[in-house]
Amino acid sequence: MEDFLRGTFVPKKRLGQNFLVDKRVVARIVEACELSADETILEIGPGTGALTREMMPLVRRIIAVETDRQLAEKLRTDFPADKLEVHCEDFLRFDLAQVPRPLKAVGNLPYYISSPIIGRVLKEREVFSALFMTAQLEFGERLVALPGSKDYGALSVLVQFYADTKLLFRIGNQAFRPVPKVNSCFIRMTLRNQPAISVKDVQFFEKVVRLGFLQRRKTLLNALASLGRKDMLASVLSSSGLPTQVRAENLSVQDFGRLADLLLEAQP
Ligand code: SAM
Repeated sequence: MEDFLRGTFVPKKRLGQNFLVDKRVVARIVEACELSADETILEIGPGTGALTREMMPLVRRIIAVETDRQLAEKLRTDFPADKLEVHCEDFLRFDLAQVPRPLKAVGNLPYYISSPIIGRVLKEREVFSALFMTAQLEFGERLVALPGSKDYGALSVLVQFYADTKLLFRIGNQAFRPVPKVNSCFIRMTLRNQPAISVKDVQFFEKVVRLGFLQRRKTLLNALASLGRKDMLASVLSSSGLPTQVRAENLSVQDFGRLADLLLEAQP
């Protein structure tokens, strides 16, 4: 693999191509994925196959979605077709009807699309049992942040609503070539069979969470102004057991659920 990277191939910045070259990190990632011999997994952005190569003997089959034509060709040449099915496509548009379910998704992902990839996996909860992914360290910290921390935001609430999420370990930037400016981490996101809490209307819950954090320095009373009059909002906050001056960053997932349900009832 390193020979390939030293050759004529020029990594494409626009595709987030920072390839894993540290074998210890590769081994740690593969171990963390808890693979079993009878499973098929989906690998997002396999690149030159650093993870693919090590995962292959441990699973039944790998479905790989790689958008770079040159790399997809190389993967087809390097690995047997009965073990690796390569789709040269953008994962965000890849037709998931063709994969067995439920399956794990694994990837050293391009960081510029971490959010949309997570969004798609959470939306397609019927297809995926878990997502194991690298992320920029700061982004990973936002995923697992708890109320009151500066990293806690809409992303934290929504991800924790749908998945049990853990930051498993940090990865220094020297593990990749080209060396990126940022450090990374490895995340396990196990999708829940049911969301962490039950809410009356999931879309409305998501709307309340997003609105709440849109201007995170505002009190909820002001941030949620588009959902009703102040006196109504104040009364709903107090029925939810929350102080009227509370900010979104202080609400747990459960608080948001209770608030969204009461706000929904109070809608005209
Ligand atoms: N997994 C390899 C490794 O660990 O060395 C490559 C990781 S590199 C950070 C990300 C890979 O994702 C690249 O091979 C890139 O071409 C591919 N990629 C970028 N955008 C993609 C997309 N939308 N869908 C699928 N693959 C994508």
